[in-house]
Amino acid sequence: ILARGRDVCKRNGLLILSVLSVTVGCLLGFFLRTQRLSPQEISYFQFPGELLMRMLKMLILPLVVSSLISGLASLDAKTSSRLGVLTVAYYLWTTFVAVIVGIVMVSIIHPGGAAQKEEAEQSGKPIMSSADALLDLIRNMFPANLVEAAFKQYRTKTTPVAKAPKAAPEAAPSQRGLIYEVQEENGSHVQHFALDLTPPPEVIYKSEPGTSDGMNVLGIVMFSATMGIMLGRMGESGAPLVSFCQCLNECVMKIVAVAVWYFPFGIVFLIAGKILEMDDPTAVGQKLGFYAVTVVCGLVVHGLLILPLLYFSITRKNPLVFIRGVLQALLIALATSSSSATLPITFKCLLENNHIDRRIARVVLPVGATINMDGTALYEAVAAIFIAQVNNYELDFGQIVTISITATAASIGAAGIPQAGLVTMVIVLTSVGLPTDDITLIIAVDWALDRFRTMINVLGDALAAGIMAHICRKDFAPDTDTEKLPPCET
Ligand code: ASP
Repeated sequence: ILARGRDVCKRNGLLILSVLSVTVGCLLGFFLRTQRLSPQEISYFQFPGELLMRMLKMLILPLVVSSLISGLASLDAKTSSRLGVLTVAYYLWTTFVAVIVGIVMVSIIHPGGAAQKEEAEQSGKPIMSSADALLDLIRNMFPANLVEAAFKQYRTKTTPVAKAPKAAPEAAPSQRGLIYEVQEENGSHVQHFALDLTPPPEVIYKSEPGTSDGMNVLGIVMFSATMGIMLGRMGESGAPLVSFCQCLNECVMKIVAVAVWYFPFGIVFLIAGKILEMDDPTAVGQKLGFYAVTVVCGLVVHGLLILPLLYFSITRKNPLVFIRGVLQALLIALATSSSSATLPITFKCLLENNHIDRRIARVVLPVGATINMDGTALYEAVAAIFIAQVNNYELDFGQIVTISITATAASIGAAGIPQAGLVTMVIVLTSVGLPTDDITLIIAVDWALDRFRTMINVLGDALAAGIMAHICRKDFAPDTDTEKLPPCET
């Protein structure tokens, strides 16, 4: 038994360490909250976690570029187009299913309850219109400057340019302001009430180009995929660049194999640091609590029931064994809230533990980390309907359909970075005329929900690679490089 136990620990050492570090991080975080650390002490404490994030982010660019170029260039035109079409169709389909799960859950649990009757109207501060956001999604696919795309993505800024008075003060008195003043008169306080009859100003907004921080992974994926396909068609003359990318890809994976030993240590500080920063959890209102429960239930149903069932029905293999193989990646997703940052570990788990053909993983994973976000789509649909419920706003069938389509589009547009879904949710809210300011209602719990939805995003990509490897197995000759892989470690 002792020998068997030692063997299990040896093979699963990294995974056991990661589970332990999540637990220690939670305990340490809650303990240190009682010590009332200053903001500066907290930021010093978070430093090892920050290093983990920086290491992972550093690997994204070389990994995405090298894996897509070498992956697609190694396939013939027929195989690459079949794999590409199947992968994108599968991603769109599962994301849409996730949205439906979210809509069903939020309709059953009804976390927004019945509030006082209020008109849900577009409030005065639109951050961005849905048309601008959709155009930005397309613009980001075609970066004007590749170097800039490595650190910035395009986002339209909407800024107030003028305040125009309303045409006529026709509104009922109750809609206008009641001025209340206290004045000193002859040594005593006198109260003045007056009806403000000046029409409220209407703010005019102007859309202008702007860039936001964060890598434009979508643009880089588009460019690398196109380059990979073209190099594949060039044959011998493209071979030097292809072998350069293959070499770069293998080198990045070797860096990952070394860096993973730092990760359990970094996770402790990343999780404890976030717990130190969070607002008082007891201050979260009842409705918000129900909303969080709704999102988590939806994620559990989608991630632990629907996706595994889909995997089983297509491959006839045990999905739990597959999920066990990617547990390490799921823990990194939980700690970092970033599916892009988790990408190197997802690769490592799939190649070493689940023995997925590296040529398939190189294509399916980077595309998935960029456009396939089942967890984000589900959460966006739940959040939009929750905001409608809080405003006592009845959504009709057409609006529910609009939410499901825009939530799918918004998740595709969301970058794989922490809380990106919160930004793209503007698309969903404006599409059905809900107040974008009400995003602030859900911010208090978003940092926690983000971790769970990122886990589902990563799980969705990993299962997709398993399914594609099964469907396309006959299109691929055996991968002779596979024997060179290091033995399974996690
Ligand atoms: N944090 C998520 C991810 O990286 C995106 C989001 O939903 O905010 O996949």
